[in-house]
Amino acid sequence: MQALMMNTQLMISSILENAEKNFPEVEMVSVTADNPLHRQSYRRFGERCRQLANCLDSLGAVFGDRIGTLAWNDYRHMELYYAVSGSGMVCHTINPRLFPEQISYIINHAEDKILFVDLLVMPLVEALKQHLTKVEAIVVLTDKEHMPKSSFSNVLCYEELLSSETAHYEWPSFDENTASGMCYTSGTTGNPKGVVYSHRSTIIHALAGALPDVTCASNMETTLPIVPMFHVNAWGAPYAALMVGMKMVLPGPKMADGETLHQLITSENVTFSSGVPTIWLALLDYLEIEKKSVPSLRRVSVGGAACPRVIVERFKENHNCTVVQGWGMTETSPLGTVFNLKKGMEDFSEDEIIDLQCLQGRGVFGIEMIIVDENNQELAWDGVAFGALKVRGPWVAKSYYGLSDIPGSEECPVDDNGWFETGDVASITPEGFLQITDRTKDVIKSGGEWISSIEIENAAVNHADVAEAAVIGRYHPKWTERPLLIIVLQPERSLTREGMLDFLTKSLHKMSVPDDVVFVNELPHTATGKINKLGLRKTFEKYQFPID
Ligand code: AMP
Repeated sequence: MQALMMNTQLMISSILENAEKNFPEVEMVSVTADNPLHRQSYRRFGERCRQLANCLDSLGAVFGDRIGTLAWNDYRHMELYYAVSGSGMVCHTINPRLFPEQISYIINHAEDKILFVDLLVMPLVEALKQHLTKVEAIVVLTDKEHMPKSSFSNVLCYEELLSSETAHYEWPSFDENTASGMCYTSGTTGNPKGVVYSHRSTIIHALAGALPDVTCASNMETTLPIVPMFHVNAWGAPYAALMVGMKMVLPGPKMADGETLHQLITSENVTFSSGVPTIWLALLDYLEIEKKSVPSLRRVSVGGAACPRVIVERFKENHNCTVVQGWGMTETSPLGTVFNLKKGMEDFSEDEIIDLQCLQGRGVFGIEMIIVDENNQELAWDGVAFGALKVRGPWVAKSYYGLSDIPGSEECPVDDNGWFETGDVASITPEGFLQITDRTKDVIKSGGEWISSIEIENAAVNHADVAEAAVIGRYHPKWTERPLLIIVLQPERSLTREGMLDFLTKSLHKMSVPDDVVFVNELPHTATGKINKLGLRKTFEKYQFPID
């Protein structure tokens, strides 16, 4: 028997219409390269989104076209989120911090038709000019007064384009499974891979993310998403905020600047904020050195990398603010698990609660998760057994853009039973708290950005004195993780640490040059002859990088 309910399609444009209708006066406050503090209401935001949708039409963009953004967190980027997806195109957010060759690869692979670029990112795009063969127009996210000189022939000014369009636009309705957004992840081996979100996945994810035990999003709160809008849609904040009418404060290019963040939090009464551990460590240092406080801030969400205990403690002791750790991935939109207490735990001691906050949180409704052993047998949730973490759910990727979608094939991240293989190793407590203990994927996350271990190893073995090289990530107090290079030398060679680092500086990007080199007589191998990284990580468990 078929249900008798309306088959209303879940459209991202409906979130915008909801915000305009129910929360027209709520503000969106932004820092941009051309304005230290811009304010607009959700009513004005809605008008500008419709003007932008008309611009996209005028520029010849059509349903399904990929529209690239290279931008920070601000109102213009928000307008792109809604106008591009709302009109049936795909909002492809690109991380300007990636290596230039990765950026041009991503733009070309996605076949972005138009690029919308922040003023400060224009020099980077100019340098890529000869590689961007398929881009038809570049729109600089600024006004006429701040337009930079450019070597491109097809450069346009965002504000000029907008002012020439009306705010009359009917958002179309179409299949909710249509692509709405795209984000490439470099957290896998090989080239970056494109994750494609749908209207449906985005809306269901935002609904789950807004729940009381997740971010507790509400019209009463003010949010400051510091996690970039080019990194998994700023963890869904741009959607959840407008869904519930939450005031947004957007730090623009100043997301690593303690002084600006403090200023925004205190002057705008920010109650909730989200970001990677490196950002929080920098802000906490700033507040403590400058003897400043953030009394309005009640909760901060930390994710993208393991949250060090000091962050939880310093926020609690010095700022009476609760840290909510979450785990997720670009491929999981990103919400997977998030910290929240279960009934009965409110009586736990402060230390016991901090212990729980240092775990990766509990599963959110919509996400199923399992851990399995090497024979793919499911392991118990006993807090002891650990194995490969797999997840599935309506906002989890089933394949990557342009790669095979056959489960179990090498290019497809999903196994034969429909589980997404995260590449993380974890245990789960009987209460359902996830604890990430290791990673099977050969990548290192430094300050929220990925570094490939294999790239460093390949560069290292190019040195004539090196017989074998392995790279593992080790804890770093500022970047959370940094690469450690472990080397076996050719017989009777005497390469030094400095010699090796010097050599690597010539072929690697600065960020990928390891923080230290250790020489060993031999490396451990698995039965199939691969370097046993799990074993190496165990051996170097207590390793600490030299203090600069
Ligand atoms: P990304 O796709 O760049 O967001 O990276 C996702 C990966 O970051 C995960 O697969 C984990 O390896 C790591 N990660 C995310 N959140 C956490 C966390 N809270 N603790 C430990 N690792 C995390």
